[in-house]
Amino acid sequence: MSRVFLQSLGCRLNQSEIEALARQLAAQGHVIVDEPALADICVVNTCAVTAEAERKTRHLLRALARANPQARIAVLGCAATLRKEELASFPNVAWVLPNEEKERAVEALALTPAPLLPSPSPALQERGRGWPEGPGEGVRARTRAFVKIQDGCDNACTYCIVHILRGPVRSRPVEEVIADIAARVEEGYQEAVLTGVNIGAYGQDLGMTDGLARLVEAILSHTTLPRLRLSSIEPWDVSPALLSLWSDRRLCRQLHLPLQSGCEATLRRMGRRMTAAAYARLVETARAAIPDLAITTDIIVGFPGETEEEFAESLAFVERMEFARLHVFPFSPRPGTPAARMSGQVPDPVLRERAARMRDLGEHLAARFRRQFLGREMEVLWERRRRDGLWHGLTDNYLQVVTACPADLHNRITRTRLVQEDDGLLVGEVI
Ligand code: SF4
Repeated sequence: MSRVFLQSLGCRLNQSEIEALARQLAAQGHVIVDEPALADICVVNTCAVTAEAERKTRHLLRALARANPQARIAVLGCAATLRKEELASFPNVAWVLPNEEKERAVEALALTPAPLLPSPSPALQERGRGWPEGPGEGVRARTRAFVKIQDGCDNACTYCIVHILRGPVRSRPVEEVIADIAARVEEGYQEAVLTGVNIGAYGQDLGMTDGLARLVEAILSHTTLPRLRLSSIEPWDVSPALLSLWSDRRLCRQLHLPLQSGCEATLRRMGRRMTAAAYARLVETARAAIPDLAITTDIIVGFPGETEEEFAESLAFVERMEFARLHVFPFSPRPGTPAARMSGQVPDPVLRERAARMRDLGEHLAARFRRQFLGREMEVLWERRRRDGLWHGLTDNYLQVVTACPADLHNRITRTRLVQEDDGLLVGEVI
């Protein structure tokens, strides 16, 4: 038996994998701990989507070694695939498991068991106090479960290293996903988020047509899950059959549709499979099919060759789409991708300036979306109590809400009146 601390960086797929690993380890009798100072083994599921993500990986590995010099560290995932030798040389790193070996992480840890350490000394425990992020809200809070439905991607966006590191599409069978979700419902989860590298491609490798729609339909009819949410889905994979499923109110009214740029010429250089014009038509169709829908997106600024005019075109398009939330990424050249070798790389100060302008627009659009709901009654899933005593929760269309309430709201869905806006959040009154 070992005491294991788990942490995931990057996307929700990584989060779902670390949650699955936590369950497997717990089933084998290991103890999942909240702080590295309490652990014999620290496991990190890493990200390499940008240079910044890699920097965070290195920073975290050093911080873990400092927080507990006795614990051994296992590094998993995309950065472990891209930088295997380098990460193996970090202090205390005993295992580096790239993506293709990740599935056997439990066996790898068990085959070379960590020595049973004495309980951490009070001094060591004190050093680990206040560790900023635990094994993930999903593992601890038991409100939202991240469920992996597929891995890999067969597209070839020119900036993307993820499809290189994760390989081709591999989908989990429908029955396996349903069993997984039914187990989460048994454990008390109120919401499941379907995750993957490219969930819209679900089932293509299994010979299914409209695979994601079939899967969602099966989950809704074979489980009693109160809320089902889709994570990021490529816009060209959103079919009429999929949109028709929102007649079931258990499906959360949020679509995260990565746009990447609102400029047609930039989209072509990115190798995206959809034009901005087609994207705009999809947004219109989706909003007509799903009232109160939150459409959120990812935007890359400063892609090679992006001129000031192209950036302005992107900015104007983003504004027109009235997104509920933007995730803005300054372009980061990734080794082995075509975009890293393109001419017209945008200098750092310009990247930063464009990212700031796009983020400002994102905040403005998010506020505009939020304000539409003032005075409305919505269902809120309460996830945690903040340090200031307020409960924090989410509506199905991804509005963040806080409320003051003496009762224990954790993991409850309540009807809530949204009465005011405060610091980027909505303040609610539980009805
Ligand atoms: S769709 Fe494009 S960006 Fe997304 S994982 Fe596939 S290649 Fe990468």
